[in-house]
Amino acid sequence: MAFGFPAYHQETVSCRGMEPSAIHDAVVKRLIEFKWGIRFESATEILASSSLSLSSWGEKIEIRISGDSLFVKSSCAMPTQCLDWGKNKKNVFKFLSAFTQQNSAIEPQQPKEVMQMACPFCHEEAPIISSGLNNSGLILFIVLILFCVPLCWLPFVIDGCKKKTCSKCGREIQ
Ligand SMILES: [Zn+2]
Repeated sequence: MAFGFPAYHQETVSCRGMEPSAIHDAVVKRLIEFKWGIRFESATEILASSSLSLSSWGEKIEIRISGDSLFVKSSCAMPTQCLDWGKNKKNVFKFLSAFTQQNSAIEPQQPKEVMQMACPFCHEEAPIISSGLNNSGLILFIVLILFCVPLCWLPFVIDGCKKKTCSKCGREIQ
């Protein structure tokens, strides 16, 4: 779940060996399949918007093609919407997975959210699992409970406030 004004999610994939015009055509095909309305279209940039649904006000889809790399960004159409409930990330992944299935030449880059880093304790490459709050998250939570109760959910959505644990040895990583 992203937090920001407005909330957004973006990814860049490399379409190795594909001509920019071929990427463009494939992008347009997927957008039509998804019924995402194309608002603007040029050789290197496409703007679309996802349809309105009950869970969101619709998202702005921004696609840019430069050389053989494809940039996809989904952001909330309402500039004041700071929480997207994971909708933007879902849009980007839905689009890219449909796109990569059709074009085997594409290798998606490691998504930033999957934290594949070496654990400082056991030195194993293990996914770091975020759960619960770390010390600074806990302090922020207590301060908010005392002074600003309506915002006490904030530490749970801020990445820096989450406790990160190694999935191999289970030790907490700061
Ligand atoms: Zn470990």
